[in-house]
Amino acid sequence: MTSQFSDSLSQTTPDSAPAEEALANIKGIAFIEGGYCPIAEAKISLLDWGFLRSDATYDVVHVWQSRFFRLDKHLDRFLASVTRLRLTLPYDRAQLTDILTQCVRRAQLEDAYVEMICTRGMSPTLSRDPRDAVNRFIAFVIPFSSIANKEQRQRGLYLAISRVRRIPPESVDPRVKNYHWLDFIQALFEAYDRNAENVVLLDTDGNVAEGPGFNLFVVKNGTITTPARGVLEGITRHTVIELCAELGIDASKAPVPVDDLHNADEVFISSTAGGIMPVTRIDDVAIGNGNPGPITRKLTDLYWQKHNDPDWTTPID
Ligand SMILES: *Cc1c(COP(=O)(O)O)cnc(C)c1O
Repeated sequence: MTSQFSDSLSQTTPDSAPAEEALANIKGIAFIEGGYCPIAEAKISLLDWGFLRSDATYDVVHVWQSRFFRLDKHLDRFLASVTRLRLTLPYDRAQLTDILTQCVRRAQLEDAYVEMICTRGMSPTLSRDPRDAVNRFIAFVIPFSSIANKEQRQRGLYLAISRVRRIPPESVDPRVKNYHWLDFIQALFEAYDRNAENVVLLDTDGNVAEGPGFNLFVVKNGTITTPARGVLEGITRHTVIELCAELGIDASKAPVPVDDLHNADEVFISSTAGGIMPVTRIDDVAIGNGNPGPITRKLTDLYWQKHNDPDWTTPID
């Protein structure tokens, strides 16, 4: 009986076969269990709380033309998140830098998306006490990816405002980059149903919060505002504010009412996955004249120029 059962199981095509096939073709490297392997071979236990409970934190830094962009800031945030979640890393900052660099070198990618993760891991006794868990560090490198494709970056993204509210900061500290994405994912489906390409969520006060993996900015009468609280403090968001200072543009963190979004001259989003990207429609209404605006363009140009500035980058040979 048992063997017959397992035989029939083994003859079944795995339900993940198409994804596994695609994975085998991805140029990527993982660091897991203390060693490096092709991304397709990196596996994690089903019993890791990172998977079972989303009990993990992560960070993403990108590499552009073989230079990390603002690696120090990403490491600062990652280490702060690890501490806030009472996790312990088996590696120090210098070792982390070395591991990430090794991953990029081995992947032989000039432009890359580099993710570092610390999960709760599992308890050797299967206890439900998180203090018993042995924490785990994983990193991986895959080709650079952007939230917006080339066409969207040129003509601007079409966003919908979701009815799903962002998880409030009183429940999950948004400063800790985390995998609590069920609100984002449900909101994305809602946006696709409404023929939008991506989505923005409001906070529980009804002000603008953020979208799946990006912060949001509104430009009105030459000044820029980004939501002050209830959002991940994006490194790209921070970078935008620094670039504004350099360009003499007034930028601030403040609550952003939904109406300010609709009435904005320009709207753009920011993320390590793509940089600064224009938004030209929200809920089927054009922003400004419906084209990416001059301030968005200026910031985007300066942002990419900074990618070979030795102060903001770390070269990989
Ligand atoms: C990563 C992320 C962002 C963008 O942060 P960057 O550091 O600029 O990449 C914004 N919001 C959420 C929820 C994120 O996970």
